[in-house]
Amino acid sequence: MIDFKTLSDTYDTPLYIYDFDYISTKYSELKESFRAKKSLICYAVKANSNLSVIKHLADLGAGCDCVSIGEVRRAFLAGVSSYKIIFSGVGKRDVEIKEAIEKDILMINLESFAELMRVEIMAKELGKIARISIRVNPNIDPKTHPYISTGLSENKFGVDIEDAKRMYIKAKNSEFLDPVGIHFHIGSQLTELEPIQKSSEIVADLVRNLKVLDINIKFFDIGGGLGIRYKDEVLIKPYDYAQAIFSTLFTLDVTIICEPGRFLVGESGYFLTKVLYEKQNGDKRFVIVDGGMNDLIRPSLYNAYHDIEVLNNENEKTLTDVVGPVCESGDFFAKNIELPKTEHNDLLVIKNAGAYCYTMSSNYNTRAKAAEVALENGKDRLIRKRENFEDMIALEKEFIK
Ligand SMILES: *Cc1c(COP(=O)(O)O)cnc(C)c1O
Repeated sequence: MIDFKTLSDTYDTPLYIYDFDYISTKYSELKESFRAKKSLICYAVKANSNLSVIKHLADLGAGCDCVSIGEVRRAFLAGVSSYKIIFSGVGKRDVEIKEAIEKDILMINLESFAELMRVEIMAKELGKIARISIRVNPNIDPKTHPYISTGLSENKFGVDIEDAKRMYIKAKNSEFLDPVGIHFHIGSQLTELEPIQKSSEIVADLVRNLKVLDINIKFFDIGGGLGIRYKDEVLIKPYDYAQAIFSTLFTLDVTIICEPGRFLVGESGYFLTKVLYEKQNGDKRFVIVDGGMNDLIRPSLYNAYHDIEVLNNENEKTLTDVVGPVCESGDFFAKNIELPKTEHNDLLVIKNAGAYCYTMSSNYNTRAKAAEVALENGKDRLIRKRENFEDMIALEKEFIK
């Protein structure tokens, strides 16, 4: 049991809390599932990029999937080996590409022909060979929320099979490019196996076709996307996931790379917030808390569901919205949920807040970002200080005229 009251007394609210032991459990579960083949789990840093979270996963053996050079730098700082770092994303700047090549990471994941040309130019300038993979868009409907669907041709990600083939041939004929990997990632919060298996089949077929052209893919990157249980979702079992991928590879001798973000850290996280007031507008009841959409935007952005618990409160439950102090009607954590009558300073725990919560936070309304705390072996420790006013104005103060 997590002692939220003591954590609130020690660190104040709003506060993010991550159970590192739970992250370890999830990592092992996934790694074990893939044990029949060579595999590397590259944690998707964007889900939760706190350095201590990355370090914890690196210590377990994970690599990193990064979507900006900032994330690549975080991975290095946290002690991830260069040969376990992948750099993905549709819009990489020249300076980012250069740095990735100089740092000699495992591979740069390309998402267009134009990008391939840029990477070749950068590698040539540096006199180095850039290891690359190509993100294939298998045009498969992942059956998830449209904002987190990425594997359809209407999405901006990746290239189709024919373009991918042309790119591999171009890369093979280049002195400065080494095509070592292939990649697909069809979406996030996936709860159905079939679209993943179909995508894997399509991409594995391409790998076999490339082999005929003497292009030998070593890394088969299946992306991330495994869903977690926010409410009542029926989840893909890691074992079934691995078996589905294996079934598409037959005898292909590749290292499977998997890039989970949400799966590894989502359920480990709690967002702790305090009740400021209750109010009633006509028939409508509101519980107003000290955390807001600037701290945790998923309900506002995706209408995402997060379980909410009021601690140590046995009062009668009625329907309410749980809202923050930000000046937006979209600033809510839940609508029309059953919650007991609360008092000033009652603690609310918002569950499954380990992924895409802190990393999406902002200073909107000049609200300082929350602190982050790790729980490990029964102990708690601060892993990011609470921001203060000075932090928020540091980069603009000197310019007041
Ligand atoms: C976001 C992303 C991931 C991680 O997605 P999850 O749903 O958090 O597992 C993996 N790979 C790529 C390329 C991504 O963009």
